[in-house]
Amino acid sequence: MPRKALLHAAVALATVLCTASLPAETIAQKTTGMHHVDGYFPLDYDAKAGKLYLTIDRFNTDFLYLDQLPYGLGQNDIGLDRGQLGEGRVVRFERFGPKILLVRPNQTARSSATDAAERAAVTQSFAESVLWGFKVEAEDGKKVLIDATDFFLRDAHGVAEQLRLTKQGTYKLDATRSALTEDNTKNFPLNTEVEAILTFTTDEPVPHNLITEVTPDAHSITVREHQSLIALPEPGYQPRAFDPRAGYFPVSYRDYTSPLGSPIDVHLISRHRLQKKDPSAAISDPVKPLIYYVDHGAPEPIRTALVEGARWWNQAFEAAGFRNAFRVEVLPEGADPMDIRYNMIQWVHRSTRGWSYGASVVDPRTGEIIKGQVTLGSLRGRQDYLIAESLLSPYVEGKPIPSAMQEMVLSRIRQLAAHEVGHTLGLAHNFAASSFPQGASVMDYPHPYITLDANNQIDLSHAYATGIGEWDKVAIRYGYSQFPASSEARDLNAILAEAQSKGLYFITDEDARPLGSAHPHAHLWDNGADPADELDRILKIRATALNNFSANAIRPGAPMATLEDTLVPLYLLHRYQTEAAAKEIGGLDYRYALRGDDQLTTAIISPEQQRHALHSVISTLDPAMLTLPESLLKNLPPRPPAYPRTRESFPANTGLAFDPVAAADSAADLTLALLFEPSRTARLIEYHAREANSPSLDELIDATLVATWKAPRQSGLALAVQQSVETETLEHLLALGANTTTSAEVRAIVRARAAKLGADLASSTEPNRIAAAARIDEFLKHPETFKPAPPIEAPPGMPIGNDEIQ
Ligand SMILES: [Zn+2]
Repeated sequence: MPRKALLHAAVALATVLCTASLPAETIAQKTTGMHHVDGYFPLDYDAKAGKLYLTIDRFNTDFLYLDQLPYGLGQNDIGLDRGQLGEGRVVRFERFGPKILLVRPNQTARSSATDAAERAAVTQSFAESVLWGFKVEAEDGKKVLIDATDFFLRDAHGVAEQLRLTKQGTYKLDATRSALTEDNTKNFPLNTEVEAILTFTTDEPVPHNLITEVTPDAHSITVREHQSLIALPEPGYQPRAFDPRAGYFPVSYRDYTSPLGSPIDVHLISRHRLQKKDPSAAISDPVKPLIYYVDHGAPEPIRTALVEGARWWNQAFEAAGFRNAFRVEVLPEGADPMDIRYNMIQWVHRSTRGWSYGASVVDPRTGEIIKGQVTLGSLRGRQDYLIAESLLSPYVEGKPIPSAMQEMVLSRIRQLAAHEVGHTLGLAHNFAASSFPQGASVMDYPHPYITLDANNQIDLSHAYATGIGEWDKVAIRYGYSQFPASSEARDLNAILAEAQSKGLYFITDEDARPLGSAHPHAHLWDNGADPADELDRILKIRATALNNFSANAIRPGAPMATLEDTLVPLYLLHRYQTEAAAKEIGGLDYRYALRGDDQLTTAIISPEQQRHALHSVISTLDPAMLTLPESLLKNLPPRPPAYPRTRESFPANTGLAFDPVAAADSAADLTLALLFEPSRTARLIEYHAREANSPSLDELIDATLVATWKAPRQSGLALAVQQSVETETLEHLLALGANTTTSAEVRAIVRARAAKLGADLASSTEPNRIAAAARIDEFLKHPETFKPAPPIEAPPGMPIGNDEIQ
C-alpha cells in the first residue's frame, strides 16, 4: 500500500473507533438532577447512586495530584497520622479514543534541549506511569465527563500497604463499607478536593497488634483519604540552585541533554515564591506575603504559643531583605484548611507520643513550595511537662505548683512550631547548630538546658531558647534573598562564605542520626560546644535532681506506681548527651566542603578530646550512678488496675515488682551500644594506625573493662547492679566479636581481649564470673554460631520509631 493510503486507512480507523464509542448523552443530560459544584475540575455528585463525575476541559495540561489522610489511625509507629501528606505528583489527562488516562510523566529524567527530537529521545527512553483509566460518560465539544467514583474510592494514600509494612496484617479495602463524603468534597478555583471514608478489613487481625490500641475493632479500620487535583503555579518562579552547605532539602533530577562537561544531575532547593515589591530596595515589602494559619483545634495557651513561635521566622525574612513577608494567624472562621491557598499548622493527637513534622506540597518541576503543612503531635508538650515534674518534684504540700513547668512547655511549643514551619520553608535539620557559640538554630533538636541556681536548686528558666537562630537567618538569606540574575551565584556564595567566617555551618540527619556516626558536633538533643563537658555537667544535674526526687514528683492522689513513669526521663536524662560524647570517640570532624571554599575537609578528633569523651561516657556505667536509693525503691509498688506498664516503663525481670537492676542494665545498654558500635570500633583501629597518639580499640576495651569487670567490688544493691552491668558489657563485647559485618581486625582484637578476660576470670568463685568465663569459652570455640544475649532495653527516648521524616 502506498504511504498515503496507509495513512488514510489509519485515520479512517481512528474515526471509526471514536464514532463507535461516542456517548449518546450531553454532559447536561447526563448530570441532570445531580449536585453541581464548579471549580478547578467541575464536579457533579449523584447522591442517589453515590457516584461522582468530573468534567475535564483541559487535556495534556500538567497539574498536581496529591493524596492526604485527613482522618488518621492515631498510632505513631504505624505512621498514619491525621493530616498526613502524600507525595505531590505532576500528572495530566490524556485521551485515547474512549479512554481518558491519568498520566504521571517522568520528572526524574528530563531534557533542557530545545530540539524536539532530542527531547523525545529522553521522554521515550524512560517509562511514564499511568495512574488510572476513566471511561467517557458524556461530552460536549472539548468537554468530557468522566465517572471518577472508583478513582476517588481507591486507597490512594497506601493505607493497606503501610499496615502490611508495619506488620499489622493483610487488610483489604472493603467497598461495601466505603463511601464518598460530601462534607469535605469541595471545589476551589485552583483545586478540586474529594474525600472518601474508606474501610480496611481482615478476617485475621494479628493478635495484640498496635491497631487494637487505637481502633474499636481490629477487624475493621476506617479512616478517610483525601485526593486533590491542584493547578500548578503560574509561570514566573525562578528555581534556585541547591548548595550542600546551605541547609535546604534538594529537588533533584537528571538532565540527559546537558552539555558534555556539565553535570547531568541537577539539584534545586525547595522554597516558597517570594518577591520584593521593590527589588532595588535593601528592605522591601513582598508582592505577596507568606501566611501560615494555626488550627483552631489547638487549645489555649498552646494555640498562642504556636502563633508566637512560628512568627519568629519574620526575623529571618527581615535578614533576607523582606519586611512584613511572613505572617502567622489563627485560621479565620469559614476558611477551609484543605484550600491549597492556606499554609497550615495542624494539631494532631495520637495514642503515644511521636514525631511532629513539617511537610510541603512542592512543584516537582521547580522546587516551588505550594503549600506548607505542619503536623504537631499533642503529646509532645505533655512529655516536657513530665520531664519538668521529674526534675522539680514540685507537688509539695502547702506550696503552689511552680509556673516554671508550664512556661517550659510553652517555650518548647514555640520552638517546635518554628522548627516544623522551618521545614515547610524548605529547610533541613542542622544538627551542628547547638554547638555554635552564637546560639542554636530552631532547625536543631533542643534538649532542655537545665541549670542550677545559686541555692543549688534545679532552674528551668533557660530550658529552651527564644527566637530564630543565627543559622536560620543564613539559610533564609540563601533561599529567599533576591539578587540580579547576573550576580546570583556569586551573591549566594558570599552568604555562605560570611557564615563560614563566623563559624556557622550545616550538618544534617545522615551525619547525626546513626549510632556509629562520627561528627563531634552534629547531635540530636544535645547542648554545648564540647559534648563531653556537657555530659559531665548533665550528670551533675541528674544527680542533684535524683537526690531531690520523691513522691512529690506526682500529684497528691495519683497512684504511687506512676512515680515510676516520672522517674524514667530523669533516670535517663543523660542518654542523648552520652550519645553526643560517644561520637567524639573515633570521631572525625568535617564539613560539606566544596573545592576551593577553604572549609575544613577532615580532622580526626584530638587524642585528648577522645580520651575525655571516653572517660565521661564510661562514667555512665558507674554502679554508684545507676543504683537507686532504698528510700525511693520503697515508694515504687507494682502497678494498680488501669495503670499497666507500657513501653514507656522500665524493663523488669522481677515480674510485677519494680526492678532497679534491670533499670540500671537498660541505662548501661544505651552506653554500651555506643561504645561497641562496629563502625566506631573500626575507625578507632584505623585512626590509631594513622595517628599513634589516637586511642586504639584496645584502649577502649581496656577502659571499659577497668570500669566494670576490674573495678573495686561494690556491696548490697550496688553490687547487684555492678554484676548485671558487667554481664551486659561482656555480651556487647562478644556481640561485636561475633558480628561478621564488622572488620576482621575488629573481630581479631575483640577475640584477643575476650580470651584474656576469660583467663582472668577463670579462677573466680563469683557465680557471674564463672558464667562469664563459660560464655567467653563458648564464643572463642564457635564465634560463628555464638548468640549474644538480647539486651535489656531502655524505654524509647526520642519520639518513638526512629524514622522521623522531619
Ligand atoms: Zn524536624
